[in-house]
Amino acid sequence: ATPTSIMVGTGRAAESGILFKGGEHLERTHQLEAIVLDKTGTITKGKPEVTDFTGDEEALQLLASAEKGSEHPLAGAIVAHATEKEIDFVDVDEFTAIPGHGIEAKVSGKQVLVGNRKLMNDYHVDIGANEEKLVDFEINGKTAMLIAIDGKYRGIVAVADTIKETAPQAIKELKEQGLEVIMLTGDNERTAQAIAKQVGIEHVIAQVLPEEKADKVKEIQAKGKKVAMVGDGVNDAPALVTADIGIAIGTGTEVAIEAADVTILGGELLLIPKAIRISHATIKNIR
Ligand code: ADP
Ligand code: MG
Repeated sequence: ATPTSIMVGTGRAAESGILFKGGEHLERTHQLEAIVLDKTGTITKGKPEVTDFTGDEEALQLLASAEKGSEHPLAGAIVAHATEKEIDFVDVDEFTAIPGHGIEAKVSGKQVLVGNRKLMNDYHVDIGANEEKLVDFEINGKTAMLIAIDGKYRGIVAVADTIKETAPQAIKELKEQGLEVIMLTGDNERTAQAIAKQVGIEHVIAQVLPEEKADKVKEIQAKGKKVAMVGDGVNDAPALVTADIGIAIGTGTEVAIEAADVTILGGELLLIPKAIRISHATIKNIR
Protein backbone atom coordinates (compact mmCIF):
# COMPACT_ATOMS: atom_id res chain seq x y z
CA ALA A 1 0.00 0.00 0.00
CA THR A 2 1.47 3.32 -0.96
CA PRO A 3 1.00 6.10 1.55
CA THR A 4 0.66 8.54 -1.33
CA SER A 5 -2.41 6.91 -2.87
CA ILE A 6 -4.05 6.76 0.56
CA MET A 7 -3.33 10.43 1.09
CA VAL A 8 -4.81 11.24 -2.29
CA GLY A 9 -7.87 9.12 -1.44
CA THR A 10 -8.53 10.68 1.97
CA GLY A 11 -7.99 14.10 0.43
CA ARG A 12 -10.48 13.43 -2.35
CA ALA A 13 -12.96 12.12 0.22
CA ALA A 14 -12.52 15.18 2.44
CA GLU A 15 -13.21 17.50 -0.48
CA SER A 16 -16.55 15.74 -0.91
CA GLY A 17 -17.42 15.99 2.79
CA ILE A 18 -16.30 12.50 3.83
CA LEU A 19 -13.94 12.83 6.77
CA PHE A 20 -11.88 9.69 7.44
CA LYS A 21 -10.08 9.73 10.79
CA GLY A 22 -7.19 7.79 9.30
CA GLY A 23 -5.98 6.16 6.10
CA GLU A 24 -6.54 2.65 7.46
CA HIS A 25 -10.30 3.29 7.57
CA LEU A 26 -10.32 4.32 3.93
CA GLU A 27 -8.40 1.13 3.08
CA ARG A 28 -10.89 -1.04 4.98
CA THR A 29 -14.03 0.56 3.56
CA HIS A 30 -13.87 -1.34 0.27
CA GLN A 31 -14.20 -4.65 2.16
CA LEU A 32 -17.68 -3.86 3.50
CA GLU A 33 -20.35 -6.48 2.88
CA ALA A 34 -23.18 -5.18 5.04
CA ILE A 35 -24.32 -1.79 6.26
CA VAL A 36 -26.57 -1.07 9.22
CA LEU A 37 -28.38 2.26 9.34
CA ASP A 38 -30.10 3.79 12.33
CA LYS A 39 -33.57 5.14 11.46
CA THR A 40 -34.17 8.40 13.30
CA GLY A 41 -31.79 11.16 12.26
CA THR A 42 -29.89 8.90 9.88
CA ILE A 43 -32.48 7.73 7.33
CA THR A 44 -35.03 10.31 8.45
CA LYS A 45 -34.37 14.01 8.97
CA GLY A 46 -34.65 13.55 12.72
CA LYS A 47 -37.08 16.45 13.07
CA PRO A 48 -40.30 14.71 14.08
CA GLU A 49 -43.58 16.61 14.21
CA VAL A 50 -46.83 15.81 15.97
CA THR A 51 -49.45 14.82 13.38
CA ASP A 52 -52.25 13.51 15.60
CA PHE A 53 -53.38 13.78 19.19
CA THR A 54 -56.47 11.95 20.43
CA GLY A 55 -56.59 13.17 24.03
CA ASP A 56 -58.11 16.20 25.79
CA GLU A 57 -56.49 19.50 26.78
CA GLU A 58 -55.56 18.38 30.29
CA ALA A 59 -53.81 15.31 28.91
CA LEU A 60 -51.85 17.50 26.48
CA GLN A 61 -50.84 19.86 29.28
CA LEU A 62 -49.58 17.06 31.52
CA LEU A 63 -47.98 15.15 28.66
CA ALA A 64 -46.13 18.17 27.27
CA SER A 65 -45.04 19.36 30.72
CA ALA A 66 -43.63 15.93 31.46
CA GLU A 67 -41.81 15.72 28.11
CA LYS A 68 -40.05 19.03 28.83
CA GLY A 69 -37.71 16.98 30.99
CA SER A 70 -36.76 14.64 28.13
CA GLU A 71 -33.99 15.24 25.60
CA HIS A 72 -35.50 12.78 23.12
CA PRO A 73 -36.44 14.18 19.67
CA LEU A 74 -39.95 12.78 20.21
CA ALA A 75 -40.24 14.94 23.33
CA GLY A 76 -39.11 18.00 21.35
CA ALA A 77 -41.94 17.42 18.88
CA ILE A 78 -44.53 17.17 21.65
CA VAL A 79 -43.30 20.30 23.45
CA ALA A 80 -43.30 22.26 20.17
CA HIS A 81 -46.85 21.11 19.43
CA ALA A 82 -48.13 22.13 22.88
CA THR A 83 -46.38 25.50 22.60
CA GLU A 84 -48.10 26.09 19.28
CA LYS A 85 -51.46 25.24 20.92
CA GLU A 86 -50.62 27.79 23.64
CA ILE A 87 -50.84 25.24 26.41
CA ASP A 88 -49.67 26.43 29.83
CA PHE A 89 -46.81 24.24 30.99
CA VAL A 90 -46.86 23.18 34.63
CA ASP A 91 -44.05 22.24 37.00
CA VAL A 92 -42.77 18.69 36.99
CA ASP A 93 -42.06 17.20 40.43
CA GLU A 94 -40.39 13.99 39.33
CA PHE A 95 -39.07 12.73 36.02
CA THR A 96 -37.66 9.39 34.92
CA ALA A 97 -36.61 8.48 31.39
CA ILE A 98 -37.08 4.80 30.62
CA PRO A 99 -34.73 4.23 27.64
CA GLY A 100 -36.40 2.59 24.67
CA HIS A 101 -39.80 2.71 26.36
CA GLY A 102 -40.77 6.26 27.31
CA ILE A 103 -41.03 8.41 30.38
CA GLU A 104 -42.64 8.47 33.80
CA ALA A 105 -43.24 11.78 35.58
CA LYS A 106 -45.14 13.31 38.43
CA VAL A 107 -46.92 16.47 37.30
CA SER A 108 -49.46 18.42 39.42
CA GLY A 109 -49.54 15.49 41.80
CA LYS A 110 -50.47 13.08 39.02
CA GLN A 111 -48.50 10.19 37.58
CA VAL A 112 -47.92 10.70 33.85
CA LEU A 113 -46.74 7.90 31.58
CA VAL A 114 -45.87 8.44 27.91
CA GLY A 115 -44.43 5.73 25.74
CA ASN A 116 -44.89 2.50 23.89
CA ARG A 117 -46.96 -0.65 24.53
CA LYS A 118 -44.18 -2.17 26.59
CA LEU A 119 -44.27 0.80 28.98
CA MET A 120 -48.06 0.52 29.36
CA ASN A 121 -47.72 -3.22 29.90
CA ASP A 122 -45.08 -2.79 32.56
CA TYR A 123 -47.30 -0.35 34.44
CA HIS A 124 -50.42 -2.48 33.91
CA VAL A 125 -52.29 0.21 31.98
CA ASP A 126 -55.25 -1.15 30.04
CA ILE A 127 -55.39 0.52 26.61
CA GLY A 128 -58.72 -1.12 25.81
CA ALA A 129 -59.82 -1.02 22.18
CA ASN A 130 -57.20 1.58 21.24
CA GLU A 131 -54.73 -0.96 19.91
CA GLU A 132 -56.43 -0.59 16.53
CA LYS A 133 -55.81 3.18 16.39
CA LEU A 134 -52.20 2.58 17.37
CA VAL A 135 -51.68 0.09 14.55
CA ASP A 136 -53.30 2.47 12.11
CA PHE A 137 -50.79 5.21 12.94
CA GLU A 138 -47.91 2.75 12.75
CA ILE A 139 -48.70 1.35 9.34
CA ASN A 140 -48.58 4.94 8.14
CA GLY A 141 -45.01 5.26 9.36
CA LYS A 142 -45.87 7.31 12.45
CA THR A 143 -44.42 6.77 15.91
CA ALA A 144 -47.46 6.59 18.17
CA MET A 145 -47.07 7.03 21.92
CA LEU A 146 -49.65 6.10 24.50
CA ILE A 147 -50.51 8.44 27.37
CA ALA A 148 -51.72 7.34 30.78
CA ILE A 149 -52.56 9.56 33.75
CA ASP A 150 -52.79 7.98 37.19
CA GLY A 151 -52.79 4.58 35.56
CA LYS A 152 -55.61 5.32 33.11
CA TYR A 153 -55.29 5.49 29.33
CA ARG A 154 -55.84 9.08 28.13
CA GLY A 155 -54.93 9.13 24.46
CA ILE A 156 -52.35 8.70 21.74
CA VAL A 157 -49.88 11.24 20.40
CA ALA A 158 -48.54 10.38 16.96
CA VAL A 159 -45.37 11.83 15.53
CA ALA A 160 -43.98 11.64 12.00
CA ASP A 161 -40.49 12.16 10.72
CA THR A 162 -39.81 12.47 7.00
CA ILE A 163 -37.13 10.56 5.15
CA LYS A 164 -34.16 12.41 3.68
CA GLU A 165 -34.83 13.09 -0.02
CA THR A 166 -31.67 11.34 -1.18
CA ALA A 167 -32.08 8.28 1.07
CA PRO A 168 -33.73 6.02 -1.57
CA GLN A 169 -30.98 6.78 -4.11
CA ALA A 170 -28.23 6.19 -1.53
CA ILE A 171 -29.74 2.81 -0.54
CA LYS A 172 -30.06 1.85 -4.22
CA GLU A 173 -26.38 2.61 -4.83
CA LEU A 174 -25.28 0.67 -1.74
CA LYS A 175 -27.24 -2.37 -2.95
CA GLU A 176 -25.70 -2.02 -6.42
CA GLN A 177 -22.32 -2.08 -4.72
CA GLY A 178 -23.29 -5.50 -3.38
CA LEU A 179 -23.94 -4.53 0.23
CA GLU A 180 -26.63 -6.01 2.40
CA VAL A 181 -28.58 -3.02 3.78
CA ILE A 182 -30.19 -3.24 7.21
CA MET A 183 -32.23 -0.72 9.21
CA LEU A 184 -31.86 -0.72 12.99
CA THR A 185 -34.23 1.13 15.30
CA GLY A 186 -35.73 1.34 18.76
CA ASP A 187 -39.04 2.17 17.17
CA ASN A 188 -41.76 -0.47 16.71
CA GLU A 189 -41.79 -3.00 13.89
CA ARG A 190 -44.67 -1.54 11.88
CA THR A 191 -43.43 2.07 11.87
CA ALA A 192 -39.95 0.83 11.01
CA GLN A 193 -41.26 -1.29 8.11
CA ALA A 194 -43.24 1.66 6.72
CA ILE A 195 -40.15 3.90 6.70
CA ALA A 196 -37.97 1.08 5.34
CA LYS A 197 -40.38 0.61 2.46
CA GLN A 198 -40.15 4.31 1.55
CA VAL A 199 -36.37 4.05 1.15
CA GLY A 200 -36.16 0.54 -0.31
CA ILE A 201 -34.84 -1.44 2.65
CA GLU A 202 -36.19 -4.97 3.14
CA HIS A 203 -34.18 -6.00 6.17
CA VAL A 204 -35.40 -4.33 9.38
CA ILE A 205 -34.39 -4.92 12.99
CA ALA A 206 -36.89 -3.03 15.17
CA GLN A 207 -37.65 -2.54 18.87
CA VAL A 208 -33.97 -2.70 19.70
CA LEU A 209 -33.10 -1.25 23.10
CA PRO A 210 -30.28 1.35 23.09
CA GLU A 211 -27.91 -1.07 24.87
CA GLU A 212 -28.65 -3.83 22.33
CA LYS A 213 -27.62 -1.96 19.18
CA ALA A 214 -23.97 -3.05 19.40
CA ASP A 215 -25.04 -6.69 19.92
CA LYS A 216 -26.99 -6.60 16.66
CA VAL A 217 -23.84 -5.46 14.84
CA LYS A 218 -21.89 -8.30 16.48
CA GLU A 219 -24.51 -10.82 15.30
CA ILE A 220 -23.93 -9.77 11.69
CA GLN A 221 -20.15 -9.93 12.18
CA ALA A 222 -20.58 -13.44 13.61
CA LYS A 223 -21.91 -14.48 10.19
CA GLY A 224 -18.49 -13.52 8.82
CA LYS A 225 -19.49 -10.19 7.32
CA LYS A 226 -17.59 -6.95 7.39
CA VAL A 227 -20.15 -4.45 8.55
CA ALA A 228 -20.52 -0.67 8.70
CA MET A 229 -22.79 1.09 11.17
CA VAL A 230 -24.26 4.49 10.38
CA GLY A 231 -25.72 6.55 13.21
CA ASP A 232 -26.21 9.96 14.76
CA GLY A 233 -27.25 9.42 18.34
CA VAL A 234 -25.62 8.92 21.70
CA ASN A 235 -27.19 5.46 21.79
CA ASP A 236 -25.52 4.57 18.48
CA ALA A 237 -21.99 5.14 19.83
CA PRO A 238 -21.30 1.59 21.10
CA ALA A 239 -22.48 0.14 17.77
CA LEU A 240 -20.31 2.63 15.85
CA VAL A 241 -17.28 1.43 17.83
CA THR A 242 -18.19 -2.25 17.39
CA ALA A 243 -18.67 -2.07 13.62
CA ASP A 244 -15.74 -2.64 11.24
CA ILE A 245 -16.39 0.89 10.03
CA GLY A 246 -18.39 3.37 12.11
CA ILE A 247 -19.96 6.18 10.10
CA ALA A 248 -21.30 9.22 11.94
CA ILE A 249 -23.82 11.66 10.58
CA GLY A 250 -22.23 15.12 10.68
CA THR A 251 -25.42 16.70 12.00
CA GLY A 252 -25.55 14.16 14.82
CA THR A 253 -24.26 14.21 18.37
CA GLU A 254 -20.64 14.83 19.31
CA VAL A 255 -20.54 11.43 21.02
CA ALA A 256 -21.41 9.64 17.77
CA ILE A 257 -18.83 11.61 15.80
CA GLU A 258 -16.15 10.76 18.33
CA ALA A 259 -17.04 7.06 18.30
CA ALA A 260 -16.96 6.80 14.50
CA ASP A 261 -14.15 6.19 11.97
CA VAL A 262 -15.72 8.42 9.35
CA THR A 263 -18.05 11.41 9.45
CA ILE A 264 -20.23 12.42 6.56
CA LEU A 265 -20.84 16.15 6.52
CA GLY A 266 -24.41 17.39 6.54
CA GLY A 267 -25.69 13.85 6.98
CA GLU A 268 -25.79 13.36 3.19
CA LEU A 269 -26.30 9.62 2.72
CA LEU A 270 -25.11 9.68 -0.91
CA LEU A 271 -21.64 10.26 0.53
CA ILE A 272 -21.60 6.67 1.83
CA PRO A 273 -21.63 4.91 -1.58
CA LYS A 274 -19.22 7.63 -2.69
CA ALA A 275 -16.83 6.76 0.16
CA ILE A 276 -16.96 3.13 -0.94
CA ARG A 277 -16.16 4.12 -4.54
CA ILE A 278 -13.22 6.23 -3.38
CA SER A 279 -11.95 3.33 -1.26
CA HIS A 280 -12.14 0.93 -4.24
CA ALA A 281 -10.32 3.41 -6.48
CA THR A 282 -7.62 3.89 -3.84
CA ILE A 283 -7.09 0.15 -3.45
CA LYS A 284 -6.83 -0.28 -7.22
CA ASN A 285 -4.05 2.29 -7.31
CA ILE A 286 -2.26 0.46 -4.50
CA ARG A 287 -2.27 -2.93 -6.19
P1 ADP B 1 -35.06 5.50 18.27
O1 ADP B 1 -34.06 4.39 17.96
O2 ADP B 1 -36.06 5.64 17.17
O3 ADP B 1 -34.39 6.79 18.64
P2 ADP B 1 -35.61 4.93 21.11
O4 ADP B 1 -34.93 3.65 21.43
O5 ADP B 1 -35.00 6.19 21.63
O6 ADP B 1 -35.92 5.01 19.54
O7 ADP B 1 -37.10 4.86 21.67
C1 ADP B 1 -37.93 3.77 21.37
C2 ADP B 1 -39.37 4.08 21.70
O8 ADP B 1 -39.52 4.44 23.10
C3 ADP B 1 -39.95 5.25 20.94
O9 ADP B 1 -40.39 4.89 19.66
C4 ADP B 1 -41.10 5.67 21.86
O10 ADP B 1 -42.21 4.84 21.68
C5 ADP B 1 -40.53 5.42 23.25
N1 ADP B 1 -39.92 6.65 23.79
C6 ADP B 1 -38.60 6.94 23.93
N2 ADP B 1 -38.42 8.16 24.48
C7 ADP B 1 -39.66 8.68 24.67
C8 ADP B 1 -40.16 9.91 25.20
N3 ADP B 1 -39.37 10.90 25.64
N4 ADP B 1 -41.50 10.06 25.26
C9 ADP B 1 -42.31 9.09 24.83
N5 ADP B 1 -41.92 7.93 24.32
C10 ADP B 1 -40.61 7.71 24.23
MG1 MG C 1 -30.91 8.25 15.55
